[in-house]
Amino acid sequence: MDFVFRRAYRGKIKAVILDWAGTAVDHGSFAPVAALLRLFEQWGVPITVEDARTGMGLMKKDHLRAILARQRVAEAWQMARGCLPSEAEVEAMFAQLVPLQTALLAEHAEPIPGLLEVVQDLRQRGVKIGSTTGYLSGMMTVLATEAARRGYTPDCIVCPDQVPAGRPCPWMCYQNAIQLGVYPNEAIVKVGDTPADVEEGLNAGMWCVGVALTGSLVGLREHEVNALAPERRDALRRCAAEQLYRAGAHEIIDGIWELPEALTRIERRLAQGEKP
Ligand SMILES: [Mg+2]
Repeated sequence: MDFVFRRAYRGKIKAVILDWAGTAVDHGSFAPVAALLRLFEQWGVPITVEDARTGMGLMKKDHLRAILARQRVAEAWQMARGCLPSEAEVEAMFAQLVPLQTALLAEHAEPIPGLLEVVQDLRQRGVKIGSTTGYLSGMMTVLATEAARRGYTPDCIVCPDQVPAGRPCPWMCYQNAIQLGVYPNEAIVKVGDTPADVEEGLNAGMWCVGVALTGSLVGLREHEVNALAPERRDALRRCAAEQLYRAGAHEIIDGIWELPEALTRIERRLAQGEKP
């Protein structure tokens, strides 16, 4: 046979799956950094903010391993403790990280500007709101409750401990699709602020929007971003966008407030026969 015919989805976007820290709440994604700095301090091996942001977006135990695998951290650990961290020590650290992280989440539940308006606008257009995260479900209970008090309640929340593995595996995205009752995956857009977010969405066969300015790659609070000189802000935005594009993001936005425009661009790409 010389020709085959391939089915292509050319309809509207039916759902978005939003990451939490740095995308929907917690401008600059500070809650994980604060918990990790405190944890390593307790183990007598202080780390930097840059160390703590390595592996951001991964399930918290994988995030911890990514930091320990950094050459600078491994050397500091060896210097302070005489050998590399054992598997038992990683487990012990993780056990301590869970309550540390959970306690900090209530202070980092503030919606990022534009979130509530965008969610309302999307719902009016019949678009469902899903979510994935690197936080475990026990941590998410605290964060979701606090976010709800501030007006944000997605239609679906899936945590890495509720599926076989967290990012970059696609399972949390698949679980969102099932719970939201939405298909095909080409009609779903994953939105997140880290390369791990983008990989998760791509692995699920979904469109990916990277969030540059409010996320972990810039790592600044709202007032800190606003205080930047325009050239400095552009440089940070470019640097974050480049990392997200390199991970495979289809579209980049400054913050969640620009999501509707990105969805319009994606729908145009869909209408032209493009696939994620
Ligand atoms: Mg995030």
